[in-house]
Amino acid sequence: MKVRAQIGKVLNLDKCIGCHTCSVTCKNVWTSREGMEYAWFNNVETKPGIGYPKDWENQKRWNGGWDVKGGRLKPRMGGKWRLLSKIFANPDLPEIDDYYEPFTFDYSHLQEAKESKAFPTARPRSLITGKRMEKINWGPNWEEILGGEFSKRSKDYNFEGVQKEIYGQFENTFMMYLPRLCEHCLNPTCVAACPSGSIYKREEDGIVLIDQEKCRGWRMCVSGCPYKKIYYNWKSGKSEKCIFCYPRIEAGQPTVCSETCVGRIRYLGVMLYDADRIEEAASAENVEDLYQAQLDIFLDPNDPAVIEQARKDGVPENWLESARRSPIWKMAMEWKIAFPLHPEYRTLPMVWYVPPLSPISSAANAGQISVNNNMPDVRSLRIPLKYLANLLTAGDEEPIALCLERMLAMRGYMRSKTVEGVIDESIA
Ligand code: SF4
Ligand code: SF4
Repeated sequence: MKVRAQIGKVLNLDKCIGCHTCSVTCKNVWTSREGMEYAWFNNVETKPGIGYPKDWENQKRWNGGWDVKGGRLKPRMGGKWRLLSKIFANPDLPEIDDYYEPFTFDYSHLQEAKESKAFPTARPRSLITGKRMEKINWGPNWEEILGGEFSKRSKDYNFEGVQKEIYGQFENTFMMYLPRLCEHCLNPTCVAACPSGSIYKREEDGIVLIDQEKCRGWRMCVSGCPYKKIYYNWKSGKSEKCIFCYPRIEAGQPTVCSETCVGRIRYLGVMLYDADRIEEAASAENVEDLYQAQLDIFLDPNDPAVIEQARKDGVPENWLESARRSPIWKMAMEWKIAFPLHPEYRTLPMVWYVPPLSPISSAANAGQISVNNNMPDVRSLRIPLKYLANLLTAGDEEPIALCLERMLAMRGYMRSKTVEGVIDESIA
């Protein structure tokens, strides 16, 4: 057993209101500069949708597809052709249209517009060409803006059958928000894909960084990351990614997105894991076992044997204390209400999600959600279990159903304590 500490996050999707404050504050601090206009280290997607960059979940499109069973990237070409393609071209990169053409608004038009019956409109202007744009074709959160139009277009996409089957039928439509950032994976493919050795995972806290001095702009990391969370800076010719606000973390402060989150959905915490079991967890034979395999590598921070080994392996005391108080340990391991995003990618991601319960207002109004009454069957909630399981447990619906039942019970309990005027001080 080799004990390592890793910083991670849980995002409670039940509380995300899709306000994009996290994305905007992150952008202002880290990527508001030339070469990175199109890049959002943190973005908030409206799901089900094809996301940003377009189609990022469709692994068949990138790298010729993942060998999901064996946990390996499949090369598009074999033998010497594979080698040549790696040297001379990287055919699997998203293009600017997959992200969006960055734009600003031409506010001067507001002052210069001639008098008319209608208010003048600020027209979009491309940040690439500087020219006015007739229309904006795509953006990082386009599905929300496009509404019904998207549901027609979504038929062109197939996410392992799940979205095509569910979405696009009016009576079945649903939506939820999915804030996304680099997962600071325990088994990061970006590190493995980099031919320059410029991407590394920090020993002390597991944050994955790109050494800007060493990066030579091959962009193998862009195609190699299954979450598409590395961006090429066209000005510097180097790749960049979320740095988990490491200068703030080192100063004992939360990441910018966590501190500014309006819904208070972001929990930061430390997890202890067994570094000797990474390979075993990442190569579990059955896809369905991957969620459990990932749970199995985490170590109990209250177990004296683990603590003793952690001290021997050089984990500092303050990190051990953080691990003991970690909300991630509680939510992922004790309460089993937080799940990794797409564990079938086998990178062992460290940003976990509490699935959304909403919308359940009709059930709540009917008085069904209470510890005193029968709870609605979670399978009849509006966001299908199958969809959530496809996102968070490689298709295993059972852990998601248990989690939603637990959350329903908690919500019912809280309401029973407040609606009837009895305030439980410990809850307050
Ligand atoms: Fe690397 Fe992508 Fe994992 Fe981030 S999410 S650590 S960029 S593989
Ligand atoms: Fe969701 Fe918080 Fe981001 Fe708002 S700031 S979109 S609530 S994660």
